[in-house]
Amino acid sequence: MQRVIIVGAGAAGLIAAGRAAELGAEVHVFEKTEEAGKKILVSGQSRCNVTNSAPLETFIKYYGRQGQFLRNAYHRFFRDELLALLRRYGVETQTERGGRIFPTSGQAADVRDALLDYAVGHGALVEYKSPVSRLLVADGKIQGVELRNGIKAPSNSVILTTGGASWIRTGSTGDGYRMAQDVGHTIIALRPALVPLRVREQAHAKALQGVSLRNVCCTLLTQNEKGKEKVLHSRYPQPPTGEMLFTHFGVSGPLILTRSLDAVDALRQHKKVLLSIDLKPGMSRDEVQHRLQKEFEEQSHKQLANLLKGWVPHSLAQVLADISGVGKEREVHTIRAPEREAIAMLIKDFRWEITGALPLEAGMVTAGGVSLKEIEPQTFASRKVSGLYLAGEVLDIAADTGGFNLQAAFSGGYLAGEDAARQ
Ligand SMILES: Cc1cc2nc3c(=O)[nH]c(=O)nc-3n(C[C@H](O)[C@H](O)[C@H](O)COP(=O)(O)OP(=O)(O)OC[C@H]3O[C@@H](n4cnc5c(N)ncnc54)[C@H](O)[C@@H]3O)c2cc1C
Repeated sequence: MQRVIIVGAGAAGLIAAGRAAELGAEVHVFEKTEEAGKKILVSGQSRCNVTNSAPLETFIKYYGRQGQFLRNAYHRFFRDELLALLRRYGVETQTERGGRIFPTSGQAADVRDALLDYAVGHGALVEYKSPVSRLLVADGKIQGVELRNGIKAPSNSVILTTGGASWIRTGSTGDGYRMAQDVGHTIIALRPALVPLRVREQAHAKALQGVSLRNVCCTLLTQNEKGKEKVLHSRYPQPPTGEMLFTHFGVSGPLILTRSLDAVDALRQHKKVLLSIDLKPGMSRDEVQHRLQKEFEEQSHKQLANLLKGWVPHSLAQVLADISGVGKEREVHTIRAPEREAIAMLIKDFRWEITGALPLEAGMVTAGGVSLKEIEPQTFASRKVSGLYLAGEVLDIAADTGGFNLQAAFSGGYLAGEDAARQ
């Protein structure tokens, strides 16, 4: 009987264990923490957004350039197969806004339990508090793994599903990158993704902390030494408008998280990265000007910040009045045309300078990881070490929010488990 060792009982590891055991392999899972699938439990605000209803062609765009790698896998094990598997283990699902698919129960634990049942029900053995420290390789072939306590577990099939290097309290502390590198894999630089961003204008961010904006449009720009600006296109499909949030250090919320990896990468290459927020994307600058002019005439004795409260949340109205140089207490009948234009300009192009992101640990996903060039896209087998497979976030795959990261982990894990069992 084929013996398969799986390192890490997360999303990819559990499904790999289930599939390999279902095919008759003797499966041994080593999990570092005291519990399986800790990250599944926190995912989707503990509701676990398992996948997305987007059609395949759109779906793969949510991985940026890495999407093509997943095409093969998704032709073999995709959303329908995943949802059918979950249903077999009692998890019904429902589709919500943006095509996000969640368990109907609203409980991430149901997804984790279903995957654990799938694995253990087919005879997989899961050993908790069993961190693996290295992969054992001889003559380009996997021989097994060594646990941190020095014990060696032999096997000619090993699946590495140790996850990323963020949210480390869920167990994913980046061990897999080091283990893969030690046996000859290339690690693409790790960067935080789906992560809040820091801004230069700290005082304004602090004043706006907690303010959430809906139906705004965010654009990232790079600026070179000569001050020349260029729009930075989004690696993921971006909705025309969406929601963002100010924090005491900068910006966050769905629109920002989606663009965060673009900003992180741009900061490595460009002198300046700027964020432009269009607070009224439904109106042109001229329309904003005209409406402002009309309101200034109709409510001529109102103070500027009070009038702007009709446009944006109160604290933002005050900040806009300050930044425009007009001052929040000026009565609007005293405001001249160029000043009004400056206010309209701010409403359409509210600028921030992005100085960085929160650290890797704070990202919902780790971008970078084992180079996809070294992985077989049909089986997730290593091209460097025979008998070794890698799946999930340990690979250089980082998608947008919406269920795409888990689907990649599930599909990769399933195919790796299948091939490992059939060796
Ligand atoms: C807050 C949050 C919310 C998220 N929500 C969603 C969502 O709703 N939808 C979505 O698609 N994605 C979501 N994600 C991302 C998604 O959860 C991950 O991409 C996915 O869990 C990755 O699966 P994985 O199996 O590769 O790694 P993980 O699920 O992280 O599992 C890795 C496992 O390996 C174990 N391990 C690590 N090192 C060792 C070692 N040396 N020895 C033994 N075991 C080890 C870990 O303890 C862990 O159990 C979210 C992430 C976060 C942080």
